[in-house]
Amino acid sequence: MNPVFPINAPRPAKILVVFGTRPEAIKLFPVIGALAATDGLTVRTCVTAQHRGLLDQVLEIAGLVPDRDLDIMEPDQTLDRLTARLLTGLGAVMDAEKPDRVIVQGDTATAMAGALAAYYRKIPVAHVEAGLRSGDIYHPWPEEVNRRIVAPIADQHFAPTDTAADALRRETIDPATIHVTGNTVIDALHWTRDRIADDPTLAAGLDAIAERFAGRRIVLVTTHRRENFGGGMAAIARAIGRIADRDDIAIVFPVHPNPNVVAVMDAILADRPNVARIAPLDYPHFVRALGMAHLVLTDSGGVQEEAPALGKPVLVMRETTERPEGIVAGTARLVGTDEDRIVSEVFTLLDDNAAYSAMARAHNPFGDGHAAARIARIVANGFGH
Ligand code: UDP
Repeated sequence: MNPVFPINAPRPAKILVVFGTRPEAIKLFPVIGALAATDGLTVRTCVTAQHRGLLDQVLEIAGLVPDRDLDIMEPDQTLDRLTARLLTGLGAVMDAEKPDRVIVQGDTATAMAGALAAYYRKIPVAHVEAGLRSGDIYHPWPEEVNRRIVAPIADQHFAPTDTAADALRRETIDPATIHVTGNTVIDALHWTRDRIADDPTLAAGLDAIAERFAGRRIVLVTTHRRENFGGGMAAIARAIGRIADRDDIAIVFPVHPNPNVVAVMDAILADRPNVARIAPLDYPHFVRALGMAHLVLTDSGGVQEEAPALGKPVLVMRETTERPEGIVAGTARLVGTDEDRIVSEVFTLLDDNAAYSAMARAHNPFGDGHAAARIARIVANGFGH
């Protein structure tokens, strides 16, 4: 027998969630889960696989099987070619899926092209993690412009913080379309931390490192920013080498697979017994590594949000940040990519207890872990559900 629907019941609205990289997947899996659990919505997912391996690690952990996979990654792909392929690929998916709304996240080429392809078809767009601005179109490059392109297209802006919402209002985005939800990365972090607590084997791959470096304070390092390639990356590598000259610390360094990172680190950091240069960690292992760390040295966006949530001081190897909340809260500090500056800032945190404690207060300006549920509710309300 056919199911009986009430007369005039609205048909479920079809939401197409588009993403392509590790950080997007981490920040969207809680949203996809919340949308799927909301009455009146049907969720479809399309990955562009702009970063294949790192994306797949997250899909597996989150138990996500994408409905569509454009598999767009190519070695040494120019931004022109990447953007063109994303635009035509995503446009074709939208023509086939005919979604009622498209959701994009953050500031990647996938987010920008996804918003544009939806706009060309007059499909409304929601932007998760809207309103981050550095004010400099070359830092981060090209992400600052990617996210600015999404803003005038979207009609639902999910700003993680008041600062981000203010930035959108300054760009004359209609305030009624801006919603401060918190950052969904905190949802992902809490969910993953709880899962590891239930099942420590999920992150047991770090047992050997924990044993090897027992008694030493761990400095967790990540670096991958395009604008640090070249001189900046070499300076970072030399700074890590000097920090590793101390025998009271150890460096845990999941190295981003980009050849611009790997080659420099191989050349400068070979044969260092207290530097564990390891393959990129899946998310549960990375969350455990954050927990093990005494302090974090990074140029990542997401890690700047996660470390404060766990009370870990974070030194940011960038000249500017679109996440000033951590700096204002006192849990993050911009240190740029000058070798001497990085070394001296790390040594200050290692040697000055007061300086360390001031930064290590567990204060999380980026969210309460319930951002995804808020987003799903607002999306559903938009369809009258
Ligand atoms: N991350 C991870 N494994 C690693 C390094 C980072 O799962 O080995 C996670 C990290 O927790 C954060 C996200 O990847 O949520 C950040 O990604 P990335 O630094 O590549 O990008 P960004 O945030 O700078 O856009």
